Amino acid sequence: EQKAPILQLKDVQIAYGQIQAVKGVNLEVCSGELVCLIGANGAGKTTTLNAIAGLLPTKGGELIYQGVNINTLPTHLRLRQGIALVPEGRGIFTRLTVEENLRMGAYTRDDQEGIEADLERVFSMLPRVKERLAQVAGTLSGGEQQMVAIGRALLSRPKLLLLDEPSMGLAPLVIETIFEVVQTVVKEGMSILLVEQNANLALAFSQRGYVMDGGLITLSGTGEALLNDPKVRSAYLGEV
Ligand code: ATP
Repeated sequence: EQKAPILQLKDVQIAYGQIQAVKGVNLEVCSGELVCLIGANGAGKTTTLNAIAGLLPTKGGELIYQGVNINTLPTHLRLRQGIALVPEGRGIFTRLTVEENLRMGAYTRDDQEGIEADLERVFSMLPRVKERLAQVAGTLSGGEQQMVAIGRALLSRPKLLLLDEPSMGLAPLVIETIFEVVQTVVKEGMSILLVEQNANLALAFSQRGYVMDGGLITLSGTGEALLNDPKVRSAYLGEV
């Protein structure tokens, strides 16, 4: 069956002043699809994700969400329309409690019952978060902070979730928990664009993937095809 793209990037370019970090990216994410963006340090992955969320302006090309050009749509309106970002480094409010952090994710909503239901949903997927509800978020472990960051994003009830390096610096068990959540929400129909330094992990979970290098997409394919691609294996999976 042919699924409709929820997100399309057409020749997207992004610059920091004179530095052209993203030179022309084409990619798409379909409804209910988990797509990963892998590649070396400095390839432009985080820059791309931040531009989709509206944190950086595009210099050229088109960002299309649900069939509409969103190049100039402000970040808060992208969030309201269903685009949520879990940024690199998590970006949680360290002086607020876990519960306050989670509820911040719902600040654009006024359906109180839906919010409570989504909180319960997060607790069922991430019981650790429920145990820590009253704790100041800055005192949590890295893994717990990542869970809170993901929970907060889910509280906005996104259609498209942008995840930047969710496994970074975390223990294997925590990574497993986080990827279980990712799989669960994708099964329920959410679309995810995942940036990962851990290419093995990302490709194993993703339906499709894109490889980025020097601000360009250099390879794309199904997760399985990329996982078995000799060029990917030698460049990103530490094989010779
Ligand atoms: P990483 O995994 O290290 O985050 P990445 O693929 O996400 O890598 P980006 O962080 O998007 O890469 O960086 C892409 C390029 O843009 C790099 O050359 C980087 O040095 C540059 N860059 C990133 N942020 C800035 C900034 N705030 N100002 C200037 N240049 C930047």
